[in-house]
Amino acid sequence: MNIAIDGPAGAGKSSIAKLVAKEMDFIYVDTGAMFRAMAYYFLSSGIDTQDEEAVSAGCPSIRIRIEYQEGVQHIFLNDTDVSSEIRKEEVGKNASVVAKYPEVRTKLLELQRAMAAENNVIMDGRDIGTVVLPDAEAKIFLTASSRVRAERRYKELTEKGEDCDLDRIEADIIARDEQDMNREIAPLRAADDAVLVDTSYMTIPEVVAAIRGIAESKR
Ligand code: C5P
Repeated sequence: MNIAIDGPAGAGKSSIAKLVAKEMDFIYVDTGAMFRAMAYYFLSSGIDTQDEEAVSAGCPSIRIRIEYQEGVQHIFLNDTDVSSEIRKEEVGKNASVVAKYPEVRTKLLELQRAMAAENNVIMDGRDIGTVVLPDAEAKIFLTASSRVRAERRYKELTEKGEDCDLDRIEADIIARDEQDMNREIAPLRAADDAVLVDTSYMTIPEVVAAIRGIAESKR
């Protein structure tokens, strides 16, 4: 069985998907991490992510591999574990830039589908229910207002001791959503058969229970 979770940046997809995966004994696949690893490669190789030709030419030199260590996803870029490096804001922004290019998407699509064919997965991203796994048994579109998403991110960053500005974070979130929703290939949108869950005023256990309920009803 496969569960697809899509939604905008900061809606809580990965935190929720991880918890649901644990409870249901599914494998959690974070596809955003794959786009981030690609972006990280271009940033560290000095390739301008806005230059589609240069990015496409670089794609064959990239090998992305996912490994699970004690149930936690680790992402390898050409055999180096880049799981923590890819979490920076800068990498997320550039992931959204390279995610517009067909070469980048095609490369990752194969890996994503192979993982879903071999395992019971709960996979999160932007186009899982629409493009990657159109036959997924359960599809969820997880969302929250941009303000709430910015507030969650702000809390996370300040707890880590980082200096940040709430309005700036919200503006970045809105810009990333727009870029993801308005691209030509595989834009961010809810599949026609996805269940919409707005988490703005829900606690994490409430969201987990809602998603489990949806998934169990499709088993
Ligand atoms: O979810 P995360 O913030 O890690 O994703 C980074 C970027 O990767 C997104 O803003 C989006 O542009 C891209 N992405 C995508 N398709 C997916 C997952 C992520 O285009 N399935």
